[in-house]
Parts: sequence; structure tokens; C-alpha cells
Amino acid sequence: MGLLHYNINMEFVNGNYYSYYYYCFYFNYYKKVMKLQEAKEIVVSLGRAGKMPCPTYNTPAKLCKTGSKLRKVKGSTCHGCYAMKGNYLFPSVQQGLQKRFDAFKHERFVEAMSFMVNRYATTHFRWFDSGDLDSISMLEKIAMVCQNTPHIQHWLPTREAKIVKDYLQIYKEFPSNLLVRVSSPMIDGEPLKSFDYTSTVHHEEKAKGHDCPSRFQDNKCLDCRACWSKEIKNVSYHKH
Ligand code: SF4
Repeated sequence: MGLLHYNINMEFVNGNYYSYYYYCFYFNYYKKVMKLQEAKEIVVSLGRAGKMPCPTYNTPAKLCKTGSKLRKVKGSTCHGCYAMKGNYLFPSVQQGLQKRFDAFKHERFVEAMSFMVNRYATTHFRWFDSGDLDSISMLEKIAMVCQNTPHIQHWLPTREAKIVKDYLQIYKEFPSNLLVRVSSPMIDGEPLKSFDYTSTVHHEEKAKGHDCPSRFQDNKCLDCRACWSKEIKNVSYHKH
């Protein structure tokens, strides 16, 4: 999928042709050198979850659209969300997460984030260790960052099935280095049928698909990269 593909569709979908054309043209053809400080002023910083083998980018879990509803549902995968407790609750952490959420609206977000991923990621990148997709516009910008960082494998887990469906209806596919996994809402639920790549959480039942091995290896991924792999249709995480 080339940049032209994006640009034409942007115009077709929401009349934002010029703004997105600007992002792509600006970043890919002019390649204006962005300084680290400028990039940090826009996106703050990347995160690094102890479990993950790569940098992450996070937003506040309290702003998750579907997750905020699911958190109230016992037996859902968001009930007792880890990103709504512990260190995540410190005001300084919340402020940082909010700034990262707001950064998506910055006119140079794609440029700044591409710069940061290029600088700090070596092979892999994870979106939303905390937080989730907020809109199709957010997903479009993430896809552009992926296009600008073709040597990095991106994984995006989400509960926002409608945003993913809407995106795919328009663009048909994601950039080849972006794997979006849509998560089932309930513990021990079935993988969602309408998507190529999914995830589930198992507790009473056996794992469906690839059983995440992190619980056997000190809660770390180590050499496993199943979440990024197109050979793995469903990854199942064990409920702690
Ligand atoms: S399945 Fe593998 S890559 Fe995914 S979270 Fe578990 S250990 Fe990490």
C-alpha cells in the first residue's frame, strides 16, 4: 500500500486530503530534519514496559472508549484493568499519558512519532500498553508512522473493533509492518470472527490458539514475538 493510496482515500472519506497529503509529502519527500527536542515536545517520550522487548506508546486507560464500559462488567477482560491502578495512578504518570493522547492532534504528530520510532526502536514496537484507539483518524496516523518506519514491526492490540472495521472498509488492509489484533471482550471468550488477527484471555478454559508463554518466563516475552507474527492468528493470554 503506497502513500498515494492513502492520500486518495483520505480525500474520498473525510475531505482531509490536504492535511494528510501534507503529512506524507512533508515527511517522505522533503525529509526535514526534526530535532530530538522538537519531537519530544510533541510526543513527550516513548515508554518501555518491563515485559516487552521494545518501546511502547501509551495513552490513559480512563479514556478507552470500549474499555471504560467493559471495566464495569465482571468477567470482561477490562475488569480490574492493570493500567487503572498502581504506578499508573501517579499524577505525573497520568499527566504524561494525557499529553501523549493529546499529541495525536498535533499537526506534526506523524513526523515526530516517526522520528522517535526510528531513533529508539530497533526491530519491534508496541502501541497501547495502556489506552486504546480513540478514532479512525488516530489509526490513520499510526498507519502513516508504520509506513515511515518500514524496518520496524508494529503491533497494536485493541478492543475498538468498529474503528478497525471502518478503517479496513476504506483502506482494505494495513501497512505490511503493522499487525492489529482485535481483542475479545470477555474472559474465556471466542476469538472475534471478523478479523484476521485476534487475541483472547483464558482462565477456566484452555488457550485458544497460541498460549502466551510469559507466565512461564518471569512475565517477559524473551524470544517470543507471537503478538507481531502473521503466522499466529489468535494469541491467548492467561488471566493472572
Ligand atoms: S505471546 Fe509472546 S510476544 Fe505476545 S505478550 Fe506473550 S510472550 Fe510477549
